[in-house]
Amino acid sequence: MPREIVFIGFGSNLGDRLDFCDRAVTLLSLLPHSLVTGVSSLYETEPLPEHSPGPGWFLNGIVRLETDLTPQGLLEVCREVEKSLGRDQEHRDGPRTLDLDILLYGARVINEPGLIVPHPRLHLRRFVLAPLAELAPELRHPLLNKTMQELLAQLGDRSVVRRLDPQPSQRYGARPSCGQAAAARDSA
Ligand code: ADP
Ligand code: MG
Repeated sequence: MPREIVFIGFGSNLGDRLDFCDRAVTLLSLLPHSLVTGVSSLYETEPLPEHSPGPGWFLNGIVRLETDLTPQGLLEVCREVEKSLGRDQEHRDGPRTLDLDILLYGARVINEPGLIVPHPRLHLRRFVLAPLAELAPELRHPLLNKTMQELLAQLGDRSVVRRLDPQPSQRYGARPSCGQAAAARDSA
């Protein structure tokens, strides 16, 4: 199977959010048959009421992963990483130590029980599109045929999403930020 380029969104609004995000990126970087080739900046984002995640603001970001894992295999891994970082499985809709969503899996369109790709709310959420447009502005949504930059520009979601300033200088911040390189590759 050819290596696919996948974008995984992560978010935390409970506990030591930065540490959970950092650990999530670390765990994803340790996956077999996979390589993390980009990590977005971190964003502070306002909680949206739809999942009643509580009052805590989120830290959100996105990882670009090149992988031979299947979509279902990757979803299982995401659930395991969520569990290992303490996500409350019985109250998944509540405040969360870590949420991982498969946003895009190459240009594949998947509609299976438990797995919909592209993520069905990707194009509606500022907290997803802001970091996606940072990592891959020219990447096209496989169904909507618009680039991430275009989707962000036309977005109705007015919730507050701001780049964390300053970005963490330790650990997370020490990762190679591949945003520019990835963007150049995607638009090539
Ligand atoms: P949310 O991420 O919307 O806050 P959850 O993390 O609780 O909610 O996920 C709800 C369900 O969404 C999970 O049971 C998962 O199987 C399903 N799901 C469907 N498509 C995807 C996807 N692309 N990435 C992650 N989960 C998905
Ligand atoms: Mg999720």
